Amino acid sequence: MRLHDGRTGELVDVETRPRMGVYVCGITPYDSAHVGHAFTYVHFDVLVRYLRRRGAEVTHVRNVTDVDDDILRVARERGVDFRELAARETEKFARDMGALGVVPPTVSPRATEFVPEMVEEVERLVAAGFAYERGGNVYFRVAADSGYGRLSGLSRQEMLRLAEERGGHPEDPEKDDPLDFVLWQRSAPDEPWWDSPWGRGRPGWHIECSTMALRLLGRPVDIHGGGDDLIYPHHECELAQAEGVPSGAPFVRHWMHTGSVAQDGTKMSKSLGNLVFVSDLLERYDGATIRSFLLRRHYRDDWEFDEGDLEAFAARSAGGLSRNSGVPAGSTGREAFFGALDRDLDAPAALDILDRAASRPEDADARRLLEEGTDMLGLHPSDRR
Ligand SMILES: [Zn+2]
Repeated sequence: MRLHDGRTGELVDVETRPRMGVYVCGITPYDSAHVGHAFTYVHFDVLVRYLRRRGAEVTHVRNVTDVDDDILRVARERGVDFRELAARETEKFARDMGALGVVPPTVSPRATEFVPEMVEEVERLVAAGFAYERGGNVYFRVAADSGYGRLSGLSRQEMLRLAEERGGHPEDPEKDDPLDFVLWQRSAPDEPWWDSPWGRGRPGWHIECSTMALRLLGRPVDIHGGGDDLIYPHHECELAQAEGVPSGAPFVRHWMHTGSVAQDGTKMSKSLGNLVFVSDLLERYDGATIRSFLLRRHYRDDWEFDEGDLEAFAARSAGGLSRNSGVPAGSTGREAFFGALDRDLDAPAALDILDRAASRPEDADARRLLEEGTDMLGLHPSDRR
């Protein structure tokens, strides 16, 4: 199949191998899943289903960032243990995704399960001269990595702006370069901690994902992805950690990112408070309707969520497919359906073909495609959990 490559910006062939590893960055479980999360995970779900349909045995890893600044802050505010908060929110997230027909990942590693391995990775970077310690914090030295910026293609100025906006703390006076990023941080007195050669602390977010990806899937990871707001700094930093030190093998074969979802003209984000939660939508619409609505946007599109659009779609669809009237003429062929998925996972085009098949119940081929296609896109009634 062909997919848009996040590193080169071009459509490239992605070979279906007998065994494939797909690592999708998961949630930080301190709040409910919103439409932006659902958009990402529903499209990656179609990717994994499609690779399996093509014969690959896919190990799908989606991590849980169960220790970080946000989760510790919220746990403190609510007076609960961060582990308890993480467990509760992870369970709610799994329920929301199940209702949207998302197949559970093969492995859902929690960051706290891999801390000794993360410490080893940081030690390796320090030994190679790619990291330095300052008073219990360890930073990655971007000056040691001549290719830093290779994934995002951003200028230093743009990286500085995003680092500031996305919690990269460029102002931290302990850093040699404002773009250096934390690999290990000392824990505050009321924070959880693990022992390390640099004292009691906890891992940085980026080292969590690259460590878990490499330990669970090996090098190279076939497909690594997430929302496009993860390109910088998260994935850029993961790549620097994993490839900055010469290892002879690339970290990732193919980078894949989903577009962002806006509400009221701005990207849906916790800090702006313009989130639409999946659990609220599920009280008003069934999972297949929401899933199909999300799949009617290409995975790389940036788009604006408007509940009026979802409501209108729900009124003219059944089981996620449009009702008979108004479906434009065109192919109902199996080849066209799978051809659409083969071309950069074009779920909207594949759904158009299924809509047409649904409008021709008298045609045996159309009925067969409908059965196979709804199953492939996760819209089959058996997908509801
Ligand atoms: Zn990640």
